[in-house]
Amino acid sequence: MSTTTSTPTIPLGGPTLPQERRVVTAIPGPRSEELLARKAAAVPAGVGHTAPIHAVAAGGGVVVDADGNSLIDLGSGIAVTSVGNAHPAVVAAVQAQVAQFTHTCFMISPYESYVAVAEALNRLTPGDHEKKTALFNSGAEAVENAVKIARKATGRQAVVAFDHGYHGRTNLTMALTAKSMPYKSGFGPFAPEVYRAPLSYPFRDGLSGPDAAARAISQIEKQIGADNLAAVIIEPIQGEGGFIVPADGFLPAVADWCRENGVVFIADEVQTGFARTGAMFASEHFGIVPDLITTAKGIAAGLPLAAVTGRADLMDASHPGGLGGTYGGNPVACAAALAAIDAFENDGLIERAQQIGARLTARLNAMRESDPRIGEVRGLGAMIAAEFVDPATGAPDAALTSAIAKACIAEGVIVLTCGTYGNVIRFLPPLSIGDELLDDGLDVIAAALGRV
Ligand SMILES: *Cc1c(COP(=O)(O)O)cnc(C)c1O
Repeated sequence: MSTTTSTPTIPLGGPTLPQERRVVTAIPGPRSEELLARKAAAVPAGVGHTAPIHAVAAGGGVVVDADGNSLIDLGSGIAVTSVGNAHPAVVAAVQAQVAQFTHTCFMISPYESYVAVAEALNRLTPGDHEKKTALFNSGAEAVENAVKIARKATGRQAVVAFDHGYHGRTNLTMALTAKSMPYKSGFGPFAPEVYRAPLSYPFRDGLSGPDAAARAISQIEKQIGADNLAAVIIEPIQGEGGFIVPADGFLPAVADWCRENGVVFIADEVQTGFARTGAMFASEHFGIVPDLITTAKGIAAGLPLAAVTGRADLMDASHPGGLGGTYGGNPVACAAALAAIDAFENDGLIERAQQIGARLTARLNAMRESDPRIGEVRGLGAMIAAEFVDPATGAPDAALTSAIAKACIAEGVIVLTCGTYGNVIRFLPPLSIGDELLDDGLDVIAAALGRV
């Protein structure tokens, strides 16, 4: 039972919650145990969970559970609450909007906040060409629509996704996603005309960026043919696939090839977007300007919202009524997004992501120097990962990874795993976390690594 305190550097989000790790019961405690039993009885097993708790409050850098434990949040609900949970400006914007009107359906009676979100994304996404934005409810829905838009605009059908890619859980996005278990296994048949190309994964393939791109392009040309290809979709940094940062030159070479061949280049920035990587969008780090960009997760501080933003000529190729949905761009979610985007732009959150990244990287690299089971520390900004291996062979060590994650959660630190081989711990803290809390979380991880 341990307690540490911390003051966030940027005092954002749930400011009334003490910024401390506080473990007052076993995790799960008795109240969470009761709720987990109800969950098991009422919710299907397929809807899993990482931390065996039930949350009652969150803000700054902590999640408080039903037993009064205060856990350090190093996951942000998968890179969603980047501005901080229950950020005061988001709360105020949502409260004002929910009292005004909750829904009209933008396709029936449009409203300004949707247009304002579209304007903000057109302005903030890479490239100064003319852009338009359509809003949806989830990352998967944005990806589905980006593919629809690309197919309609090109009159072609094939789509290329990459090894280790993750694009969602709907039928088309399952097809685009690389990993079978748990995302696809038994859920087929999958959407047709989806092909997979090899990625750049420097830690495992040792290829330069241009060489990895040449390998992918050659495979695409031979197996599909540019004339048949509507779009290439790629996460600038693979998220679920293991926080894989491609070698320098890989993404620009693929993007250039797409441009030369009339193929729509879609950057899936659902996880990497909105200051997460120490830039507003990860594409900026690689000097690429996507034709279309999909966003969601960090966009609205936890309210369900997603977007496709891109070249106006492509976006306008779909006929009226061809794009949309009942809830897409819901006014409450748009109000939250406008407040969150204001915080990303004006509260120093891009710089804060860089600081958090430097702190995480330095500490994890120090651990790696004394512990060869950490094969690599990588990532950009507040999107950092450690890949765990068998030091003798370099083989992925998923068992070690999951044991460390479980040990951390039991000590009051929420960490997430990822990776095709399940051997990566990823760090996605809210940008509102304080340094002391971050350091305490890293101490817990170091101790767990020493024990397991
Ligand atoms: C999470 C994620 C998705 C799917 O988003 P949902 O909101 O869960 O549908 C798509 N692409 C990437 C890169 C993601 O990380």
